[in-house]
Amino acid sequence: MSERTLISSFVIPKETAKAFVVRKGQVLRVICHEGPQTADFNAWVLDNYDEYFSAGRTRFFTGVHPRKGDYLYTNPGRDRVMWEIIEDTVKHTISESGATAHDLLFPRCSKIVFEEPFGIKDHGSCQDSFAAAVAPFGLGPDRVHDTLNIFMKTGVDSAGNIFIEPPDAVTGDYCDLLCMIDSLVAISACPAGDVHATNGYENKPLKIEIYE
Ligand SMILES: [Zn+2]
Repeated sequence: MSERTLISSFVIPKETAKAFVVRKGQVLRVICHEGPQTADFNAWVLDNYDEYFSAGRTRFFTGVHPRKGDYLYTNPGRDRVMWEIIEDTVKHTISESGATAHDLLFPRCSKIVFEEPFGIKDHGSCQDSFAAAVAPFGLGPDRVHDTLNIFMKTGVDSAGNIFIEPPDAVTGDYCDLLCMIDSLVAISACPAGDVHATNGYENKPLKIEIYE
């Protein structure tokens, strides 16, 4: 990374999302600058929003916990390499239950995951945060898709149920994603930390840096 130049830096406030353009060859750095915080990731091919990041197609190649050196793919039928994870500072562990980060199991949160188990009405969600962030780019809420959940520690139990554990990421940890196709990116600082272990039970902001 030493040969790269920082061209953009900004904070995504806690419980919100931002959308922005990243060009082929640029590196997107996602930083837990105030402590562990899940970063839900969405991306669309900039010149054709019908092609976008696919958690499912990526999972087929990487398993449910992608690592440094893994590629992120576009939706089935398109199947192009869109991003590569080129750096990851998290000291990963695998808990006795099999949980580890990062996560391709969980969809982004939406209102129902707070209403049904917890009885919380009108809780903020990654779905709503993403929808607000991409609206200025002409994308409606149904264009939001399943996420890569950076820093989120998850697993599957012997009955097939998926679960969340407190993250391994610590303050200052980051992931670098190399952009391989010009993209509109949206990242949500997931607001589920009040009810889930996902952010260490406290919602925080995220810092974004883009390098040329
Ligand atoms: Zn969320």
